[in-house]
Amino acid sequence: MITSFQAMVESGLCKADDPHPDSAVKLSDHLLSLIDKDDPARCPIAKQFVPNPMELKVLKGEEWDSLGEEERGAGNVLFQKYPNRCVLYVSGFCAAFCRFCTRKRRVEDATKDKDNDYEAAFEYLREHTEIDDVLVTGGDPMMLTPSKLEFYLRRLNEIPSVRCIRIGTRIPISDPNRVTDELCRVIAENGVKFVNCQFNHPKELSPQTVEALSKMRRHGISMNNQTVLLKGVNDDVETMRELCMKLYQLGVRPYYIYQCDLIPGLSHFRTTITKGRFIHSRLRGFISGVAMPFYIVDLPAGMGKVHCTRDNFVEFDPEITNQGPGVAFDTSINPTLEYPVRKFFNYQNKSFLYDEREFCPEDIEDTARMLLDAKKRQ
Ligand code: SF4
Repeated sequence: MITSFQAMVESGLCKADDPHPDSAVKLSDHLLSLIDKDDPARCPIAKQFVPNPMELKVLKGEEWDSLGEEERGAGNVLFQKYPNRCVLYVSGFCAAFCRFCTRKRRVEDATKDKDNDYEAAFEYLREHTEIDDVLVTGGDPMMLTPSKLEFYLRRLNEIPSVRCIRIGTRIPISDPNRVTDELCRVIAENGVKFVNCQFNHPKELSPQTVEALSKMRRHGISMNNQTVLLKGVNDDVETMRELCMKLYQLGVRPYYIYQCDLIPGLSHFRTTITKGRFIHSRLRGFISGVAMPFYIVDLPAGMGKVHCTRDNFVEFDPEITNQGPGVAFDTSINPTLEYPVRKFFNYQNKSFLYDEREFCPEDIEDTARMLLDAKKRQ
C-alpha cells in the first residue's frame, strides 16, 4: 500500500520534483496492481489516485464544501441537505484516496468524529421525523469492521421514521478482498436498500472486483453505480458505454453520471456540461433503458441535484455552446437558478459566478473538437 507522495515517487508514479498538493495520498495494493506502470500518465486508474501538479491550480468559486453539505445537521457527522434525506459520516478512512473526492475535507481528517457526535446525530434523527432516508457514507463505510458497521446500522434501524438506508462505497473497486461474507451479511440483514458504488472506468472491473460484486449479489444486495465524469478517464462515448454495459451485465445498475464538483484543484478533471450532455445523448439508443444513467449536476451551496435534461433548462445561452443549452435549472429546493451562465445569482446570501469557461477551462477546446468530429461523421 502507498500512503505518501514519496512512496508514489519510489513506485515511479510521480516525479520527485513534481509540485504536489499537501493532501493525503493513499493507494491500495489492489489498485497498484491494476495501474499501467509503463504509462501512468495515461492510465485511467493512475489518473484517479496519483497526485497531479494541476491540483495546485485553484479557481475562483471552488470551495471545500462546494455542495453546502455541512450547513445543517448534528454533531460533526450528520448533515441534512434535502427535506427528507441526510448523510451520516461513519468513517474517515478509504482504501485509496481519489484525487477528485468531493469529501476530501472529511477523508483527510479521520480524527474529527467523536462518539458523542453520533449520539447527537441519532437524537437529531429521532427529533426530525421528516428524515426517512439516510445515506451512510464517509470516507468509506465498508472500511469499518463488520461489527462496527452493524452497530451504526442497528442504531439507524431503531429509529421508526428512518425507512431507507443506503451505503456509498468504493471498496469493491479499491480493495475487493474486504468484501467478506460477514460484511455482506451485515449489509444484507440490516435494512440497507442499496449500496451505491462508484466505478469510473471499465478497467476497474478486475476479476477480484467482479468476484466481490458477485458475492454481494449472492447475499441479495442491490447495487447502483454513480460514475463521476472525469476528463481523461471516462469522458468519451465508448468508455462510458462499455462501463455501463459491463456493470449492467454484472447486476449493478448504472444510475448516475455526475458532473465533477467544484472542489478546489479539480479543474483538470472537470468536463464541460456541453460535453457531458453530448456523451449522455450518445448512450441513449445504444443501451437498454434500465441501464441508462441519469446525467446529474449537484449544484453548489446546497441547491441540490438536477438532471441535465433540456426539460430542466429554463434559459438558453447559445454563446456558451453550439448545442444551445444555456443553463438555468429548476430544482426542487430553489425553483430557478442559473448554471453556468455568466451571471451572479444569490441564494441564501451566497453569490456564484458559474460559467463553463470559468470552471472547465481545460476542457473547452476538447469539447469543441468532440462536437466538430461528431458533426463531420454525420
Ligand atoms: S472512496 Fe469515496 S470518500 Fe474515499 S476518497 Fe474516494 S470518493 Fe472520497
